[in-house]
Amino acid sequence: MAARRPCPVDGCDGTRSPRQLLCRSCWIRVPQPVRHDVWRHWFGRRYAPSAEERATAARAWLAAAREAEAAAAASLAKSRRERA
Ligand SMILES: [Zn+2]
Repeated sequence: MAARRPCPVDGCDGTRSPRQLLCRSCWIRVPQPVRHDVWRHWFGRRYAPSAEERATAARAWLAAAREAEAAAAASLAKSRRERA
């Protein structure tokens, strides 16, 4: 089993597997269109993509990752405010 990695979302102490973008609790906060983009551009291409496809997927994934991270962080902050 691969080592767990820290979740990249600010204020989250969860962990993710190397194949995951965010920890599970942050991932479920990501808006569905962004999740679909991640799946379409990244996970859906992991079977023998060409170098060009990998580069395209990596760019899309990085953009989606930033978007997902921002969305998850905003959602986390919002839920903390609501709990406080
Ligand atoms: Zn997280």
